[in-house]
Amino acid sequence: MTKILAIETSCDDTSVAIVENGHKVLVNLVASQEKLHATFGGVVPEVASREHLKAIYPLIELALKRAKLTPKQIDAIAVTVGPGLLGSLLVGVNAAKTLGYLWGKRVLPVNHLMGHIYAGFIDHPKLELPLLALVVSGGHSELVLVGRHGEYKYLGGTRDDAAGEAFDKVARLLQLGYPGGPAVAAEAAKAKLQITNYKKGKGIKLPRPMLDEGDLDFSFSGLKTAVSRVKGRPADIAHEFQDAVVDVLTDKLARAASRHQAKTIVLGGGVAANQALRGRVSELAKARGWQLVIPDFKYCTDNAAMIGSAGHFLTMGGGRADRLAEQSEARLRRRASRGKLGVLSRRSKKYKWYNTNVMTS
Ligand code: ADP
Ligand code: MG
Repeated sequence: MTKILAIETSCDDTSVAIVENGHKVLVNLVASQEKLHATFGGVVPEVASREHLKAIYPLIELALKRAKLTPKQIDAIAVTVGPGLLGSLLVGVNAAKTLGYLWGKRVLPVNHLMGHIYAGFIDHPKLELPLLALVVSGGHSELVLVGRHGEYKYLGGTRDDAAGEAFDKVARLLQLGYPGGPAVAAEAAKAKLQITNYKKGKGIKLPRPMLDEGDLDFSFSGLKTAVSRVKGRPADIAHEFQDAVVDVLTDKLARAASRHQAKTIVLGGGVAANQALRGRVSELAKARGWQLVIPDFKYCTDNAAMIGSAGHFLTMGGGRADRLAEQSEARLRRRASRGKLGVLSRRSKKYKWYNTNVMTS
């Protein structure tokens, strides 16, 4: 039996969990900064790291207390090492390293994306591999194939904005508030006019970016620009935008699954809360005979339980839990050298991996 104390501070949620054997969550605490950042319309990195600093040690103490455990009973410490906001990550990593040194425990570095994928194992510890994961959150829209624990392949991802980030920005354009995902979804639900008009070939039409390209990448920033130019009722625009995002995500997920003969699918990340997306992916799963796992919502948004789960499974398999970002960066570099990524400058690559989900100004 292994008990892992896990720490997640990659963005704006400070989270500490204790997970037994990779799936039994003894405690999962999350201190959210959402209200604080809402006043700015997005996450402010400097504010986020200061808040992590205030919350991290009280949360660790509380987690041990709630689980009725002493540090001696903890076997290892798992911590998110990236991708995420650097200042935020530093707080978690330093806390983990300090405790690792003081308590004499191993520190397991975990990639945040692997965390989102392994959230699927919390309720389904015996999930069969290979599995294909679509991680859609404020900072990510990525397709990852997991062959064995510790062995994975990055198939594709967003070249610019993540799906959740696009939801947040569209919410801002339509003045629906922050966080944008639930607000856009609620607005879209009011769009009766759009649905009828669309059927008649009239309603608002937004592009489905990159559907015609053979790869498994996404791009959502152009869609956001298209929203800023289109005229119509906010509900109709929200509906069409949501439909466009869901179209692209489900199409590429289906393509990836057939290309790699995947029968087990995990849909993770905060955008997995979106009912339209859940509905369409569930329909696909039924039609194609996939085993579909969508983790409980509390394990879809950022949480440390998923980091504890990933830390357990990945190190058990002898793999490293922190290599995914390296793989995807190497892939981006290769594409750029072949001239396939003309739009991605060094700076924007940096943005993609270290500065996700940041909206200032
Ligand atoms: P991150 O930590 O990368 O910001 P999370 O996994 O915490 O991402 O998820 C937050 C994101 O999920 C936000 O961008 C939010 O707008 C989006 N989101 C939450 N609920 C919904 C929803 N119902 N529909 C679409 N997007 C949603
Ligand atoms: Mg979050």
